[in-house]
Amino acid sequence: MATHKASFVLLAVIELLIALFLITGTRKPLDAAPARTGEDIALKDFAALHPIDAHVHVFRTAQEFQEMLDQEHLTVLNILVVDDTWPPRNHLQPQIDDAWKLVRSSKGHVFLCTTFDGYKFTSPTFTDDSVHQINRDLKDGAIAVKIWKTFGMEIKDSAGKYVLPDDPKLKPIYADIAAHGKTLLAHLAEPDLAWEPLDVKKDPLAQYYIENPQWYMLDKPGVPSKKTILEARDRVLEQNPRLRVVGVHLGSMEKDLDDIGRHLDKYPNFAVDTAARMEYLMYGDREKVSAFLVKYQDRVIYGTDLDVNPDVNVAESVKSWKQTYINDWKFFATDETFPVEGRQVHGLKLPATVLQKIYRTNAQHWIKGLK
Ligand SMILES: [Zn+2]
Repeated sequence: MATHKASFVLLAVIELLIALFLITGTRKPLDAAPARTGEDIALKDFAALHPIDAHVHVFRTAQEFQEMLDQEHLTVLNILVVDDTWPPRNHLQPQIDDAWKLVRSSKGHVFLCTTFDGYKFTSPTFTDDSVHQINRDLKDGAIAVKIWKTFGMEIKDSAGKYVLPDDPKLKPIYADIAAHGKTLLAHLAEPDLAWEPLDVKKDPLAQYYIENPQWYMLDKPGVPSKKTILEARDRVLEQNPRLRVVGVHLGSMEKDLDDIGRHLDKYPNFAVDTAARMEYLMYGDREKVSAFLVKYQDRVIYGTDLDVNPDVNVAESVKSWKQTYINDWKFFATDETFPVEGRQVHGLKLPATVLQKIYRTNAQHWIKGLK
């Protein structure tokens, strides 16, 4: 009897173990999702704002890219430039045609910032042609116009003199953009290093100018100084108070937050974006950067300068886009310390109201038409 009872208990225990195994066995796949990492959380919190990246360059229409836009509730402003040193950007009209294909297939996630062709500057019809083409693009739905660093650093007039951004031939273009209530995105000048001796050990950016000597100004005869170019930009701000201007890349004043602040104080029609200059904020004095972003919380627009080039693996591009969004979010929104390009960065943990402005509403305010 005792033996019988013992084997009954043993059987019951075995059955219980099997049942437990089955329960945990069947439940396991449901619970098996990996624990959410800090990076997952960062990307999810970023997406929750329905963020706008107001500075990208996308040359492809690709499924993987669209999936990222959908997943991250991301809106981007795709910016065109004409660059005679890189074939995909050499001609404007094919870029515009491609850009519209991207916009139209993006389900409302991609907007277009058109540009005009500065290389035609010496043509007697340059101004009229530019205004005509800009107006056509605005009518088609472009929401902003870009002026590029070629003005001040590459384009010359018929006398062989570098053309500055306040050249009289550009005035009707600015007036036209303002009359349409649209925004000028101004990438004028470059980081200071373009006018300084290069030392890769001192500043890794030197490598860019070694690889892109066309933008290295130090030894070029007749080239304006950075100061001269930015003063011409400032005269455009002064002369066109009704023109909203976004100085991209921190308005090329990347090393001097006080100088950016003085410009924002002086020119109510001026804002800046963070594109490709986040490291100056990340590696800067944390208290100072934080105070700057809080003080000028209505004037700083999030942008990255990320690109999808014609010849790339889009999946790889998407991966690096996401990593940039994660790092930038951790910096602006969290108190975490984490490495970026081998250097430790300490997050600013900005207030939610400031994050909302930098990541979304400032772009909508300064670049009308962004949704
Ligand atoms: Zn750019």
